[in-house]
Amino acid sequence: MNQLFSVRGQAAIVTGAASGLGLAIAEALASGGARVTLLDLNGAAVERETGRLRQAGLEVRAAALDVSDRQALDTAFDAAAAAHGGLDIVFANAGIDPGPGFVSVAHRGTRVPEQQIENYSDERWHKVVGISLDAAFYSIRAAARLMKPAGRGSIIVTTSISAVRPAPAVGMAYMAAKAGAAHLVRTCALELARYGIRVNAIAPGPFATNISADRADAADFRAAQTAAVPLGRVAAPEEIQGLALLLASGASGFITGEQIVIDGGASLGAAC
Ligand code: NAD
Repeated sequence: MNQLFSVRGQAAIVTGAASGLGLAIAEALASGGARVTLLDLNGAAVERETGRLRQAGLEVRAAALDVSDRQALDTAFDAAAAAHGGLDIVFANAGIDPGPGFVSVAHRGTRVPEQQIENYSDERWHKVVGISLDAAFYSIRAAARLMKPAGRGSIIVTTSISAVRPAPAVGMAYMAAKAGAAHLVRTCALELARYGIRVNAIAPGPFATNISADRADAADFRAAQTAAVPLGRVAAPEEIQGLALLLASGASGFITGEQIVIDGGASLGAAC
């Protein structure tokens, strides 16, 4: 049973790995004995965190890239596979922008004029879709290319509970992109099953990371998130690690095409 969740000796890539969930996932994989490439837009932060993990004796490397740049992503995936002798596990995790949405969190139910659909900008739409949907496609495509020859692999995309049901305090592009990524996961899982490659999604509820840190109403948003969770709290980033190891390892060998929600019960309905 000790081997069930093992990732020892496996080669892994995590995108969006300099902060929050990606960093927690990279740390879990590396602590479990995987060789991990951490990719992030924030070059200084990913170098700093990778240095910290290396100091702890873990086998990690870093590269800076924008995951929505498909050529840069292909190049980074090729370099990771070359450095670590193949590719077994990919977490397509980078993401931006939860919120604001079309209702105010401070004044529950009040519409925010500038967030209504007629005022939603093309720029915001394309930026969010480029990172949360296009980059999920680029990541799965690059992973499949590198995993197919070995006939095995596990690809995990971070979606969101807002892929399952609308979250009015979060922007519309984010919800649409995450729902698209969830269905992309199902489609790719069906296609890649024949090659021994599993594709799944993790759909988090509220976790305390940096993604909403620059919202003007961040404190109200956090309070509203907490109130909506039956378990009564926002999760720490480390609480993603068990599910990440499940999906990365042979413990989930018969699971593919799934989107697993991890949200403290938030999607069950109102906390009571
Ligand atoms: P975070 O902001 O703490 O970390 C995201 C990381 O992604 C950052 O290090 C950032 O630099 C990196 N990044 C952003 N754009 C990038 C790009 N174009 N290329 C490469 N890297 C980029 O946020 P987080 O909460 O850890 O987010 C991780 C994933 O979890 C995202 O996909 C997010 O949508 C999803 N998610 C988070 C929550 C939550 O409550 N925190 C809930 C549901 C889903």
